[in-house]
Amino acid sequence: MDMSENLTHLTHSSAGRVRHERTVGLEGGCACGAVRYRLASAPMFVHCCHCLDCQRQTGSAFVLNALIEAEQVELLAGEPLPIPVPTDSGSPHLITRCPACQSAIWSVYGGRAQVRFVRVGTLDRPSALSPGVHIYTRSKVPWVALPAGVPAFDAYYDAGALWPAESLARRKAALART
Ligand SMILES: [Zn+2]
Ligand SMILES: [Zn+2]
Repeated sequence: MDMSENLTHLTHSSAGRVRHERTVGLEGGCACGAVRYRLASAPMFVHCCHCLDCQRQTGSAFVLNALIEAEQVELLAGEPLPIPVPTDSGSPHLITRCPACQSAIWSVYGGRAQVRFVRVGTLDRPSALSPGVHIYTRSKVPWVALPAGVPAFDAYYDAGALWPAESLARRKAALART
C-alpha cells in the first residue's frame, strides 16, 4: 500500500479545492475523559446526516460520523457501553456511550458491528475530518447551508458510486468478517 495515500485523505473545501489532511492516528474521547480511543487508520468515509433520528438523538441539527472498521478503533481507556435506541426505520441502532458521562462515542447500525460510525465531534481535533456526503437533506434545517462540491442526497445514497475504490474494498472486507 502506498503510505502517502494511507496518511492523507482528500477533502473538499467549501471553495472546491482538494485538501490533504493527516487522518491517521486521530485520538478522541468522551467529555469526562474515562473513554479514550485512537483511529488506527483514516476513516473509509465521513457522513453528515440530517435525518430526524440523528437530530433527535444529538439534540442538534445533524450528526457527523466517521465510518471505520471496528478493529481500527483502538480503545485506549474505559469501557464504552452500547445502548439500543429506537429508529424511525425500525432497523437496530446501538449508540455506544461512556458509562460515566454518557457521551456518545460511536454508533453501530443494522447489527453490523464490523463498521463503527464514530462521532467526529468526539475527536480531540474535530476539524480533522469533514463530510464526504450530506444525507437525508430532506429534513435538513433551513438555516444550514451546504457547501458546493460536496454531494448531497434527499435520503440515503449509493456508496458504490461515491466512495473511493480503496474504501469500498475495506468495507467489503470488513462486512465479510463475522
Ligand atoms: Zn465520560
Ligand atoms: Zn441520520
